[in-house]
Amino acid sequence: MSGYYRDLFGGSWSLLVGLGITIKNMFVPIVTEQYPHFVPVMTPRFRGHIELVGDEETGEPKCVVCGMCQKACPSGCIKLAGEKPEGAKKKVVTSYILDFTRCSLCGQCVESCNFGAITFSKDYNLASTDKNDFIFDLKKRLEEKS
Ligand code: SF4
Ligand code: SF4
Repeated sequence: MSGYYRDLFGGSWSLLVGLGITIKNMFVPIVTEQYPHFVPVMTPRFRGHIELVGDEETGEPKCVVCGMCQKACPSGCIKLAGEKPEGAKKKVVTSYILDFTRCSLCGQCVESCNFGAITFSKDYNLASTDKNDFIFDLKKRLEEKS
């Protein structure tokens, strides 16, 4: 009979401890985000794939096609091309392709750009079974954004 009361007391005590934890946690701040209903805000230092930066006034890419980012990339991810329109003082980018399947997010390209023309995006939710979906046309992406 004493075993019965010991089990009863033990079970009741466990129940009370569990309820105490549940009630306590009802009043602590919620840290779980209901993704995808709520889109998380990435931290300032988050590194998504690189993207072109547009001029504040015109929206056109700031890139002057110097090629430094392409040279700096240790993984050969970047292929870009440009042209100098007639009468223009500097080149404009006509194509900027990023092979994100090879990118290690090392940041060499961003650091090598003296024109502030590329930065890390905040894109975090990239998923696909087709690796071609990770070949990004960054010029087109910038145009779609503006
Ligand atoms: S380093 Fe900057 S300006 Fe030069 S090609 Fe790359 S993105 Fe353009
Ligand atoms: S972050 Fe590094 S690996 Fe990725 S494109 Fe830039 S230089 Fe290449």
